[in-house]
Order: sequence, then structure tokens, then C-alpha cells
Amino acid sequence: MITVEIDKDSGFCFGVVNAISRAEKELAENKELYCLGDIVHNSREVNRLETKGLRTVDHEQMAVMYNKRLMLRAHGEPPKTYQTAYRNKIIIIDATCPVVLKLQRKIRKSFLEIDTENTQIVIFGKTGHAEVNGLVGQTDGKAVVIEGKQDLKILDFNKNIRLFSQTTMSVNDFKEIVSEIQSKITENTTFKYHDTICRQVANRIPNIRLFAKRHDVVLFVAGGKSSNGKVLLDECRKANSNTYLIEGADNIDINWLQGIKTVGICGATSTPKWLMEEVAEKAVLIGNNQ
Ligand code: SF4
Repeated sequence: MITVEIDKDSGFCFGVVNAISRAEKELAENKELYCLGDIVHNSREVNRLETKGLRTVDHEQMAVMYNKRLMLRAHGEPPKTYQTAYRNKIIIIDATCPVVLKLQRKIRKSFLEIDTENTQIVIFGKTGHAEVNGLVGQTDGKAVVIEGKQDLKILDFNKNIRLFSQTTMSVNDFKEIVSEIQSKITENTTFKYHDTICRQVANRIPNIRLFAKRHDVVLFVAGGKSSNGKVLLDECRKANSNTYLIEGADNIDINWLQGIKTVGICGATSTPKWLMEEVAEKAVLIGNNQ
């Protein structure tokens, strides 16, 4: 007999809840809604909404789209997207998370204040991630993106630095980057940093560590593209080496559950509760048939 527990703190953050409920409301009222990029980094949730009429488009498709209703997801978008929408008479349903919106405004303000010849705006984040593209857009494409300490070599330490972070990065990694920059920055230059990491993710870390520790096996449910999923998964793996990343119940390998007593199921801020429940049902089924 296996015991299965779903982490009560895993699942959608308020930014994702807001985007999905707005999409559902729109689909109920207008039957048709386009979304720029996957509404959430979870293919099963995207599929669920697509059966209700949501259609996912990319920037190229948006550029030749006219007079449609288009949702901008929680990650946010650069100013260029709004300009294209205006030009093509597209009605924007803006579900940019308020935390991301605040960060975009902060970066824009900083960019307008600096002299770009002598000051670099640096964003700690994942190159090409939608949120990061939206942030870089606030600097007219001039911000430098670093993914970790290994990228610090691309910075010019003879120039001032203004450091920001993508909302879903690790707080510890950010702190390490701050101290590395402090040790490298030259005299007569200034370094200002802004910890802009969303606590919806960071605050889940202590709990998810304890959760992972108290189970024999951890099934971490998330889409491969989720940044916060990667952060939370790493924390689970540090706490419990028997942690497996799965996208859904079909990915469970029965060998993982052989001879074990407890399974913990958790996930990212983009993982729907219903998906974790499906995984739990399958784990119980496998456990009962051993
Ligand atoms: S993780 Fe934070 S910033 Fe990102 S969508 Fe959720 S609430 Fe917003």
C-alpha cells in the first residue's frame, strides 16, 4: 500500500490564475480568443483551453493578423508587440502579471535615467524567455542578459551596472551574482541592484524542500519550458535524489514506485491542480497493483 500526497502549495500562482480565468471568461463571452505564445508552460493546460476555442499564435502570425482579440500572457511583452497590435487593430486582452508589469516599468525608468554609453542594464534571466524579451524591450534592446555567473565575463566592469532579475530566478544565484559583481566593479563606477524575484516562487522553496525530504519518491509535474519549474525541481532534487520530472501521469515509470511507501507530488506555478490529481490517481493505481 502506497501513500500519495499532493503538495498543497504547488500549482498556479496568482499571475497564472488571473491569465487563465481571463481567457476562460473571454472564451465564454466571445467564443474566439488568440493568445500570443502558450498561455502557460504546460501543454496539457494549453490543450484544455484550446478545446474551448483558444488559439495560440506566435509573433510572426500576429504581425499578419487583423481585427482579432489577442491575449498577452502573464510573462508580458515588449513595447513593439503593443505597437503591432495598434497598427493591426488587434484588441489586446492584457494578462501581464502585475509583478512583471512593475518590473518592466522599473527597468524602463532606469533605462530612461541612464547614459547608455557609461551604464549597462543587466538582466539575470534566461535568454529568449518571453518575460526576458519583454524586459529587454524596455531598454530598446540594449540590456545585457546573463544566465549565471559564467556570463559575467561579457560585462564591462569599467562601466556602471544596474542589475535586475527575471521574476522566476533563484534568490541564492542572484545573491552570488551580486557579490561577484561587487568584487569586480572598478573604482569610480557604480553598481545598483534590484532583487526583482517574485516571492510566489522563492517562498515555495523551504516548503518544497521539506515536502521532498519526507517522501521516498517525488514526482515533479511540469512542462519542460517552465523556468520556475526548473528552480523548484532543482530544490526537490537537492532534498531527495529520487525526484523525477514528468509532464503527466503517462510518464510515470512503474519501476520508480517499486517497494516504496510514500510518493510526493508537486509542481511549478504553471502546473494545474487537476494534472497533479491525475498523477496521484495513477500513482495510487500502480501502488495498489504491486
Ligand atoms: S511567478 Fe510571480 S511574477 Fe510570475 S506570473 Fe506568477 S505571480 Fe506573476
